[in-house]
Amino acid sequence: MRSPVALANLVALCLGCATAFGAGPARIVWPKPMEIFQGELSEVSVMGSEITEVEGALGKEKVLFQANGAAKFIALIGADVDAKPAALKLRLTARSREGGEFRSDIPVKFKKKIFHQESFQVPPGFDQTTPENLDEIRREQTAFARVFAAPPGDRLWDAPFLRPVPHQESASSFGRRRIINGTPRAPHSGLDLSAPADTEVVASNHGKVVLAGNFFFAGGSVVLDHGGALYTMYFHLSDIRVGEGTIVRKGDVLALSGATGRVTGAHLHWGARLANARIDPLELLKKISSHWQPSGLSSETSTHITEK
Ligand SMILES: [Zn+2]
Repeated sequence: MRSPVALANLVALCLGCATAFGAGPARIVWPKPMEIFQGELSEVSVMGSEITEVEGALGKEKVLFQANGAAKFIALIGADVDAKPAALKLRLTARSREGGEFRSDIPVKFKKKIFHQESFQVPPGFDQTTPENLDEIRREQTAFARVFAAPPGDRLWDAPFLRPVPHQESASSFGRRRIINGTPRAPHSGLDLSAPADTEVVASNHGKVVLAGNFFFAGGSVVLDHGGALYTMYFHLSDIRVGEGTIVRKGDVLALSGATGRVTGAHLHWGARLANARIDPLELLKKISSHWQPSGLSSETSTHITEK
Protein backbone atom coordinates (compact mmCIF):
# COMPACT_ATOMS: atom_id res chain seq x y z
CA MET A 1 0.00 0.00 0.00
CA ARG A 2 1.23 3.53 -0.81
CA SER A 3 2.21 5.68 2.12
CA PRO A 4 0.40 9.03 2.44
CA VAL A 5 3.73 10.82 1.81
CA ALA A 6 4.29 8.99 -1.51
CA LEU A 7 0.71 9.79 -2.56
CA ALA A 8 1.22 13.47 -1.76
CA ASN A 9 4.39 13.45 -3.88
CA LEU A 10 2.49 11.87 -6.76
CA VAL A 11 -0.17 14.59 -6.64
CA ALA A 12 2.52 17.29 -6.55
CA LEU A 13 4.23 15.67 -9.55
CA CYS A 14 1.02 15.60 -11.56
CA LEU A 15 0.28 19.27 -10.84
CA GLY A 16 3.78 19.98 -12.15
CA CYS A 17 2.96 18.01 -15.31
CA ALA A 18 -0.17 20.01 -15.92
CA THR A 19 1.71 23.31 -15.72
CA ALA A 20 4.45 22.20 -18.08
CA PHE A 21 2.17 20.49 -20.60
CA GLY A 22 -0.64 22.90 -21.18
CA ALA A 23 -2.94 23.84 -18.30
CA GLY A 24 -0.68 26.68 -17.15
CA PRO A 25 0.00 30.09 -18.65
CA ALA A 26 2.05 28.80 -21.62
CA ARG A 27 -0.62 26.63 -23.21
CA ILE A 28 0.60 25.26 -26.55
CA VAL A 29 -1.26 23.31 -29.19
CA TRP A 30 1.26 21.02 -30.90
CA PRO A 31 0.66 19.26 -34.24
CA LYS A 32 -0.86 15.77 -34.18
CA PRO A 33 1.21 12.71 -35.22
CA MET A 34 1.20 12.43 -39.01
CA GLU A 35 1.90 10.13 -41.95
CA ILE A 36 3.46 11.44 -45.16
CA PHE A 37 3.68 9.37 -48.33
CA GLN A 38 6.77 9.54 -50.58
CA GLY A 39 6.74 12.77 -52.63
CA GLU A 40 3.96 14.38 -50.56
CA LEU A 41 3.66 17.47 -48.37
CA SER A 42 2.09 18.32 -45.04
CA GLU A 43 1.31 21.67 -43.44
CA VAL A 44 2.05 21.84 -39.70
CA SER A 45 1.23 24.49 -37.12
CA VAL A 46 2.05 25.30 -33.51
CA MET A 47 -0.30 27.57 -31.57
CA GLY A 48 0.13 29.38 -28.26
CA SER A 49 -0.75 32.91 -27.18
CA GLU A 50 2.60 33.50 -25.49
CA ILE A 51 4.83 31.85 -28.08
CA THR A 52 7.24 34.17 -29.90
CA GLU A 53 9.34 31.66 -31.81
CA VAL A 54 9.20 28.04 -33.00
CA GLU A 55 12.12 25.96 -34.25
CA GLY A 56 11.80 22.53 -35.81
CA ALA A 57 13.89 19.70 -37.24
CA LEU A 58 12.97 16.52 -39.09
CA GLY A 59 15.88 14.13 -39.52
CA LYS A 60 18.84 16.31 -40.38
CA GLU A 61 16.74 18.99 -42.09
CA LYS A 62 15.56 22.16 -40.39
CA VAL A 63 11.83 22.85 -40.53
CA LEU A 64 11.31 26.58 -41.02
CA PHE A 65 8.36 27.94 -39.04
CA GLN A 66 7.05 31.43 -39.45
CA ALA A 67 4.62 33.61 -37.55
CA ASN A 68 1.22 33.51 -39.23
CA GLY A 69 -1.29 35.74 -37.49
CA ALA A 70 -1.95 35.91 -33.78
CA ALA A 71 -0.50 33.05 -31.77
CA LYS A 72 0.16 30.76 -34.75
CA PHE A 73 3.32 29.43 -36.37
CA ILE A 74 3.16 27.47 -39.61
CA ALA A 75 5.56 25.36 -41.71
CA LEU A 76 5.68 22.79 -44.52
CA ILE A 77 7.32 19.39 -44.36
CA GLY A 78 7.74 16.88 -47.15
CA ALA A 79 8.96 13.35 -47.84
CA ASP A 80 11.40 12.80 -50.69
CA VAL A 81 10.14 10.75 -53.69
CA ASP A 82 12.65 8.07 -52.64
CA ALA A 83 12.40 8.51 -48.83
CA LYS A 84 12.83 5.25 -46.93
CA PRO A 85 9.67 4.24 -45.06
CA ALA A 86 10.54 5.15 -41.47
CA ALA A 87 9.23 6.38 -38.12
CA LEU A 88 10.75 9.83 -37.46
CA LYS A 89 10.28 12.58 -34.93
CA LEU A 90 9.48 16.17 -35.75
CA ARG A 91 11.46 17.84 -32.96
CA LEU A 92 9.88 21.13 -31.95
CA THR A 93 11.00 23.90 -29.59
CA ALA A 94 8.71 26.83 -28.79
CA ARG A 95 9.93 29.88 -26.86
CA SER A 96 7.87 32.39 -24.92
CA ARG A 97 8.40 36.10 -24.27
CA GLU A 98 9.39 35.35 -20.67
CA GLY A 99 12.23 33.08 -21.82
CA GLY A 100 10.34 29.82 -21.29
CA GLU A 101 11.31 26.95 -23.57
CA PHE A 102 8.89 24.15 -24.39
CA ARG A 103 9.70 21.01 -26.35
CA SER A 104 7.67 18.36 -28.05
CA ASP A 105 8.54 15.44 -30.37
CA ILE A 106 5.77 14.67 -32.85
CA PRO A 107 5.80 11.21 -34.48
CA VAL A 108 6.02 11.43 -38.29
CA LYS A 109 5.80 8.31 -40.43
CA PHE A 110 7.23 8.29 -43.96
CA LYS A 111 5.19 5.81 -45.98
CA LYS A 112 5.82 4.01 -49.23
CA LYS A 113 3.71 5.04 -52.21
CA ILE A 114 2.96 2.85 -55.20
CA PHE A 115 4.36 4.59 -58.27
CA HIS A 116 4.00 3.65 -61.91
CA GLN A 117 6.72 1.18 -62.94
CA GLU A 118 8.02 0.30 -66.40
CA SER A 119 10.45 -2.44 -67.26
CA PHE A 120 12.11 -2.78 -70.65
CA GLN A 121 15.22 -3.95 -72.52
CA VAL A 122 17.46 -1.83 -74.75
CA PRO A 123 20.42 -3.00 -76.89
CA PRO A 124 23.68 -2.95 -74.90
CA GLY A 125 25.39 0.44 -75.16
CA PHE A 126 22.11 2.15 -76.20
CA ASP A 127 22.34 4.94 -73.63
CA GLN A 128 26.11 5.07 -73.22
CA THR A 129 27.63 8.50 -72.84
CA THR A 130 30.77 9.94 -74.46
CA PRO A 131 33.56 11.61 -72.39
CA GLU A 132 32.19 15.01 -73.58
CA ASN A 133 28.73 14.03 -72.35
CA LEU A 134 30.24 13.10 -68.98
CA ASP A 135 31.81 16.57 -68.69
CA GLU A 136 28.42 18.14 -69.44
CA ILE A 137 26.67 15.86 -66.95
CA ARG A 138 29.17 16.82 -64.25
CA ARG A 139 28.65 20.51 -65.03
CA GLU A 140 24.88 20.01 -64.73
CA GLN A 141 25.16 18.18 -61.40
CA THR A 142 27.50 20.84 -59.99
CA ALA A 143 25.24 23.72 -61.09
CA PHE A 144 22.16 22.18 -59.44
CA ALA A 145 24.03 21.13 -56.29
CA ARG A 146 25.34 24.70 -55.86
CA VAL A 147 21.80 26.13 -56.11
CA PHE A 148 20.37 23.76 -53.48
CA ALA A 149 23.30 24.23 -51.09
CA ALA A 150 22.50 27.93 -50.57
CA PRO A 151 21.03 28.82 -47.15
CA PRO A 152 17.23 29.33 -47.31
CA GLY A 153 15.96 32.91 -47.54
CA ASP A 154 12.68 34.48 -46.41
CA ARG A 155 9.44 33.16 -47.88
CA LEU A 156 8.48 34.96 -51.10
CA TRP A 157 5.59 32.72 -52.21
CA ASP A 158 1.88 33.09 -51.48
CA ALA A 159 -1.03 30.70 -51.62
CA PRO A 160 -2.18 29.50 -54.08
CA PHE A 161 0.44 28.09 -56.48
CA LEU A 162 -0.30 28.12 -60.24
CA ARG A 163 0.11 25.49 -62.91
CA PRO A 164 3.02 26.70 -65.10
CA VAL A 165 1.17 25.69 -68.31
CA PRO A 166 -2.58 25.17 -68.76
CA HIS A 167 -2.13 21.53 -69.87
CA GLN A 168 -2.67 18.38 -67.89
CA GLU A 169 0.08 16.16 -66.57
CA SER A 170 0.86 12.90 -68.32
CA ALA A 171 -0.59 10.11 -66.19
CA SER A 172 1.44 9.16 -63.12
CA SER A 173 4.72 10.56 -64.37
CA PHE A 174 5.86 11.74 -60.93
CA GLY A 175 7.85 9.06 -59.11
CA ARG A 176 7.80 6.68 -62.10
CA ARG A 177 10.40 3.91 -61.78
CA ARG A 178 12.14 2.58 -64.88
CA ILE A 179 13.91 -0.74 -64.88
CA ILE A 180 16.20 -0.95 -67.91
CA ASN A 181 17.82 -4.30 -68.73
CA GLY A 182 16.98 -5.38 -65.19
CA THR A 183 18.65 -2.38 -63.50
CA PRO A 184 16.40 0.09 -61.61
CA ARG A 185 17.08 3.72 -62.55
CA ALA A 186 16.58 6.79 -60.36
CA PRO A 187 12.88 7.63 -59.89
CA HIS A 188 11.43 10.40 -62.05
CA SER A 189 11.49 13.36 -59.70
CA GLY A 190 9.14 15.74 -61.53
CA LEU A 191 5.81 15.92 -63.26
CA ASP A 192 5.61 15.92 -67.07
CA LEU A 193 3.02 18.34 -68.40
CA SER A 194 2.03 17.72 -71.99
CA ALA A 195 2.72 21.22 -73.32
CA PRO A 196 3.10 21.56 -77.10
CA ALA A 197 6.31 23.38 -78.21
CA ASP A 198 6.28 27.18 -77.72
CA THR A 199 3.69 27.24 -74.95
CA GLU A 200 4.34 30.08 -72.48
CA VAL A 201 5.68 28.68 -69.20
CA VAL A 202 4.83 30.89 -66.20
CA ALA A 203 6.25 31.13 -62.69
CA SER A 204 4.06 29.06 -60.38
CA ASN A 205 4.74 31.58 -57.62
CA HIS A 206 6.84 34.62 -56.67
CA GLY A 207 10.53 33.84 -56.44
CA LYS A 208 14.07 34.55 -57.51
CA VAL A 209 15.65 32.97 -60.61
CA VAL A 210 18.65 31.10 -59.19
CA LEU A 211 19.47 29.06 -62.30
CA ALA A 212 18.84 29.76 -65.99
CA GLY A 213 20.84 27.77 -68.55
CA ASN A 214 21.16 24.78 -70.86
CA PHE A 215 22.09 21.32 -69.64
CA PHE A 216 22.59 17.79 -70.94
CA PHE A 217 19.59 16.04 -69.34
CA ALA A 218 17.32 18.94 -68.34
CA GLY A 219 17.90 21.02 -71.53
CA GLY A 220 16.83 24.68 -71.21
CA SER A 221 16.24 25.05 -67.47
CA VAL A 222 14.96 27.60 -64.98
CA VAL A 223 15.02 27.13 -61.20
CA LEU A 224 13.05 29.48 -58.93
CA ASP A 225 13.91 29.92 -55.26
CA HIS A 226 10.65 30.76 -53.44
CA GLY A 227 12.36 31.20 -50.06
CA GLY A 228 11.79 28.99 -47.02
CA ALA A 229 13.88 26.21 -48.70
CA LEU A 230 11.23 25.73 -51.44
CA TYR A 231 12.21 25.62 -55.13
CA THR A 232 10.36 24.92 -58.39
CA MET A 233 12.06 23.77 -61.61
CA TYR A 234 11.12 24.03 -65.28
CA PHE A 235 13.01 21.85 -67.82
CA HIS A 236 13.28 21.20 -71.59
CA LEU A 237 12.56 24.89 -72.34
CA SER A 238 13.21 26.41 -75.77
CA ASP A 239 13.38 30.16 -75.16
CA ILE A 240 14.43 31.34 -71.71
CA ARG A 241 13.32 34.92 -71.02
CA VAL A 242 14.68 35.49 -67.51
CA GLY A 243 18.21 35.72 -66.16
CA GLU A 244 19.77 34.54 -62.92
CA GLY A 245 19.04 37.01 -60.12
CA THR A 246 15.71 38.22 -61.59
CA ILE A 247 12.82 38.46 -59.13
CA VAL A 248 9.70 37.13 -60.80
CA ARG A 249 6.07 37.29 -59.73
CA LYS A 250 3.49 34.55 -59.90
CA GLY A 251 2.28 34.24 -63.53
CA ASP A 252 5.30 35.98 -65.16
CA VAL A 253 6.48 34.25 -68.35
CA LEU A 254 9.78 32.45 -67.72
CA ALA A 255 10.29 30.77 -71.09
CA LEU A 256 8.61 28.81 -73.89
CA SER A 257 8.26 25.06 -73.67
CA GLY A 258 10.33 22.85 -75.95
CA ALA A 259 12.05 19.50 -76.37
CA THR A 260 15.60 20.35 -75.28
CA GLY A 261 17.82 17.99 -73.28
CA ARG A 262 17.32 14.22 -73.11
CA VAL A 263 13.69 13.93 -74.22
CA THR A 264 11.70 12.26 -76.97
CA GLY A 265 9.16 15.06 -77.50
CA ALA A 266 8.03 18.53 -76.40
CA HIS A 267 6.69 18.76 -72.85
CA LEU A 268 7.33 20.65 -69.65
CA HIS A 269 9.03 18.84 -66.79
CA TRP A 270 7.91 20.65 -63.63
CA GLY A 271 9.74 19.82 -60.41
CA ALA A 272 9.56 20.96 -56.77
CA ARG A 273 11.94 20.65 -53.87
CA LEU A 274 11.37 21.42 -50.20
CA ALA A 275 14.28 21.22 -47.73
CA ASN A 276 16.08 18.76 -50.04
CA ALA A 277 13.01 16.54 -50.46
CA ARG A 278 11.92 16.10 -54.10
CA ILE A 279 8.17 16.43 -53.98
CA ASP A 280 5.30 16.15 -56.45
CA PRO A 281 4.60 19.73 -57.60
CA LEU A 282 0.88 18.92 -57.67
CA GLU A 283 1.16 18.83 -53.86
CA LEU A 284 1.77 22.60 -53.98
CA LEU A 285 -1.60 23.00 -55.74
CA LYS A 286 -3.43 20.54 -53.46
CA LYS A 287 -2.02 20.86 -49.95
CA ILE A 288 -1.21 24.51 -49.31
CA SER A 289 -4.13 26.09 -47.50
CA SER A 290 -5.32 29.66 -47.91
CA HIS A 291 -4.36 30.38 -44.27
CA TRP A 292 -0.88 31.61 -45.12
CA GLN A 293 -0.56 35.35 -44.61
CA PRO A 294 0.87 37.35 -47.55
CA SER A 295 4.64 37.25 -47.97
CA GLY A 296 6.87 40.34 -48.24
CA LEU A 297 6.85 40.15 -52.02
CA SER A 298 3.09 39.98 -52.17
CA SER A 299 2.64 43.17 -50.10
CA GLU A 300 4.94 44.88 -52.65
CA THR A 301 2.71 43.60 -55.45
CA SER A 302 -0.41 44.97 -53.82
CA THR A 303 1.29 48.37 -53.33
CA HIS A 304 2.00 48.48 -57.09
CA ILE A 305 -1.58 47.56 -57.84
CA THR A 306 -2.97 50.29 -55.56
CA GLU A 307 -0.67 52.90 -57.11
CA LYS A 308 -2.05 52.29 -60.62
ZN1 LIG B 1 10.23 14.66 -66.76
